[in-house]
Amino acid sequence: MEFSYSADLVGLKARARELAKKLTAYEDESEREGGLLPSSREEIKRIVLDSGFNAMNAPVAWGGAGLSWIQQVVVEEEFGRLTNGLWAAVWRPTAAALTRSTPEQRERYVLPEIRGERFGGRAITEPEAGSDLRRLATTAVRSGRGYRITGEKWFVTLGDIADYFLVLALVQPDNAPTMFLVDRDAPGVELLDMPHYTHNFAYAHPNFSFTDVEVGEDAVLGEVGEGFRLTQETFFEERVLVAAHAVGAAERALSHATDWAREREQGGDRIIRHQLIQAMLADSVIDIAVNRTFVHQLAWDIDQGGDPRTLNAKVAMAKISATEAAGRVADRAVQIFGGRGYLRSNPVERVYRDVRVDRIWMGTSEIQRIMVANEIDKRGLSGLVHFSGAAEPASMGADR
Ligand SMILES: Cc1cc2nc3c(=O)[nH]c(=O)nc-3n(C[C@H](O)[C@H](O)[C@H](O)COP(=O)(O)OP(=O)(O)OC[C@H]3O[C@@H](n4cnc5c(N)ncnc54)[C@H](O)[C@@H]3O)c2cc1C
Repeated sequence: MEFSYSADLVGLKARARELAKKLTAYEDESEREGGLLPSSREEIKRIVLDSGFNAMNAPVAWGGAGLSWIQQVVVEEEFGRLTNGLWAAVWRPTAAALTRSTPEQRERYVLPEIRGERFGGRAITEPEAGSDLRRLATTAVRSGRGYRITGEKWFVTLGDIADYFLVLALVQPDNAPTMFLVDRDAPGVELLDMPHYTHNFAYAHPNFSFTDVEVGEDAVLGEVGEGFRLTQETFFEERVLVAAHAVGAAERALSHATDWAREREQGGDRIIRHQLIQAMLADSVIDIAVNRTFVHQLAWDIDQGGDPRTLNAKVAMAKISATEAAGRVADRAVQIFGGRGYLRSNPVERVYRDVRVDRIWMGTSEIQRIMVANEIDKRGLSGLVHFSGAAEPASMGADR
């Protein structure tokens, strides 16, 4: 068992922190403007390309960084320190597009995305279908040599810069859930609304309608009927990233709060000497250390392979635990700052707002808990509570 970073990981972390520092310069603009200005987007694209962290999940042969899961977690934790969703500026193609695209789809969508020339948005959620995708209403009807897609998609992250979407639709007449690659400029794709959210994100999460949008047979990603599976593959990857970001965000908030607690004098002493403040700092450091360890162990587990169903539940555990911990840490950080913690110019206030959505998107905490409980029922506790390879003594219980 080895718990220290290799020289390679130390170097990678330092490079990621360097990139995050450069992107920190855009936080105030993103907060003030409710997103990035177009000129900044171009600057950031150049900075990210120079860093080599674009498409870190894609193979090196395709122009990506080809990082393992443990490497990605180390890097993404650093990006998680960024407020205003600036971690999203370090783009990566969707897992399903990477693994399931045909050579033609790869040339048209994936390789340009790796180079930063195209961006994809995931159009899965609908007004009546959030956690429950069985309520999906978007349809794809056969038409000539392709399909006509009609429906409404909400909360499409990066929808303002995306020039294509992964659209989950039900192929008729069998209601077969299927993922389609749809160009943003296809006739019938319309921007409905650009809602404001609790956070001020670098990019937007607009709603779109699709009305009789004609696509060819070659727009199907994977197979007809495979849409839920591809959605799950995408969520799997994104939940790990959310957990890693949450650890980084919590650490950022705690480091500001700690500096302040050391410096601020009230009640005859620096506030770090007051026991109620000490309790908040201690609880926060525990929240971060414990979650960092679990998210790293999970990444290591994924790199080793293993039963994808158990890994899926462990990813859910990491998402629940790290995002709820980040919420607690950010809340305490605001409290430690007092009135100054409530100013939007204070990064801890922005972390406080930013991390809230992590308990909602990519599957709510409630849905993640259901996934964990289902895994306990199907395969028992052992795979979830032990390190891989550790045998549980038979006398410990009726685990399957
Ligand atoms: C800022 C933002 C960005 C987003 N980006 C994207 C994106 O890029 N692409 C995309 O497709 N979607 C995106 N989403 C949508 C997001 O994934 C959904 O909001 C999320 O899956 C929850 O769905 P819902 O909002 O419809 O809530 P609902 O599913 O209606 O849930 C409402 C409440 O009921 C609970 N609940 C639901 N079912 C159960 C159950 N069976 N048991 C117990 N409790 C339950 C939920 O946990 C929640 O508390 C984004 C959302 C936000 C806020």
